[in-house]
Amino acid sequence: MNQTQSDPTTVWNQCLSIIRQSVNPQTFHTWFNPIRPVRLEANRLLVEVPSRFFHEWLDQHYRSLLLSALRDTLGPDATLLYQVQDVEKQPAPSFARPSTPPSNGLDSETQLSLRYTFDNFVEGNNNQFARAAAFAVAQSPGQTSFNPLVIYGGVGLGKTHLLQAIGNYIRASDSPARVLYVSSERFTLDFITAIQQNRSTEFSSRYRSVDVLLLDDIQFFVNKERTQEEFFHTFNSLHQKGKQIVLTSDRPPRDLHGMEERLISRFQSGLVTDIQPPDYETRLAILNRKAEESGADFDPEILDFIATHITSNIRELEGSLIRLLAYSSLTGRDITLTLAKEVLRDIVKPKQKQISIELIQSIVAEHYGFADDLLRARSRKQEIALARQVAMYLAKRLTNASLKTIGLHFGGRDHTTVLHGVQTIEKALANDPNLRRDLADIQRKIDIATL
Ligand code: ADP
Ligand code: MG
Repeated sequence: MNQTQSDPTTVWNQCLSIIRQSVNPQTFHTWFNPIRPVRLEANRLLVEVPSRFFHEWLDQHYRSLLLSALRDTLGPDATLLYQVQDVEKQPAPSFARPSTPPSNGLDSETQLSLRYTFDNFVEGNNNQFARAAAFAVAQSPGQTSFNPLVIYGGVGLGKTHLLQAIGNYIRASDSPARVLYVSSERFTLDFITAIQQNRSTEFSSRYRSVDVLLLDDIQFFVNKERTQEEFFHTFNSLHQKGKQIVLTSDRPPRDLHGMEERLISRFQSGLVTDIQPPDYETRLAILNRKAEESGADFDPEILDFIATHITSNIRELEGSLIRLLAYSSLTGRDITLTLAKEVLRDIVKPKQKQISIELIQSIVAEHYGFADDLLRARSRKQEIALARQVAMYLAKRLTNASLKTIGLHFGGRDHTTVLHGVQTIEKALANDPNLRRDLADIQRKIDIATL
């Protein structure tokens, strides 16, 4: 390896210039720009990717491209290692001053990820109060009556984001306050390790020497008595010194069954505020923001479609954009509403939209390459008869219509004809794989049409 290539960034940039030649700009933007070089040891390059999904995708689709770019740069034995950026699963916090600036976007002193700020937190009715409280605390940690501040709410609604935003805000200000972000899981694991290694005193003083403690997901302490005991003392020690404590939980403190009463009452002694699932306008605002950040163009009707169907979790809103970008860049298809419906078929909540017999007819006819009205006509041609029976079968299965009503939709046929059609298809399905495949295709088209 040559000397100028000994730092990860140089090596990675060289790989990127090779990769850039083999993929289209959109793919490059979506899948390679977000990768961050972290460390280079001998011929092993460690890179960081934003999520596990992202890693799986890269590994599935671009492993050989990545590897060959790396080997062109570093030599034939080079290997590529990944780490997933996950703020909640970082190494034990340590107060050693980092000797070099963090290369992975994560400050090793505070465990904060720089991607979470107040600036990129979209405000809506659902989170306005929590955001305001968090912001007040960030401006004057320990100085408000919001101590502790407890933010609770469901998965993927922005609790970690707000918690980290507080930390980042304080760090970016001139304040000398020592900030520590830690997940409750990490706190627990550290505590157990400290006990095993007879270092509990060190553990205690480490957590009790901060000015701002940001503790994520306290529901994790439920039924862990010794951790609760330790945290109780940490809490009191910090609180007595006027240090700021901010906690998040997936449910209100009073519902933390298996948490000591004295802790619950401490949690409730400051301000408890919730984050609710976002309403449509907030979802759309968030999507607009994320779309903008992604650099790709999304038609408003696509964002509307996603905002309408993914309602309960902001992480999924983000994920759906990533998925769309992924499919589009892999297949070379433009990001259209049709593509969105196809790609997001299994994540969007099926809205119980009524399936009409007309819709079934038109999709079946299209599938077999006939005009709709042939299904209603008198024709006894074999292929048409089959398509007609398939449509009858689906009408019976997917709508609440009676055999008689179905018959009326098929050119006024008798209910016994419909029954016969339904039974014929049922029987044929048992031993005709082609028919099963046709029906699966048709069913998928119906699903997409009724999204
Ligand atoms: P939680 O900790 O409540 O499970 P997170 O804070 O991890 O949820 O949020 C999930 C994802 O959604 C994160 O990527 C976060 O940045 C994003 N997110 C959540 N709320 C908002 C918001 N109001 N504006 C912008 N992004 C948000
Ligand atoms: Mg979280």
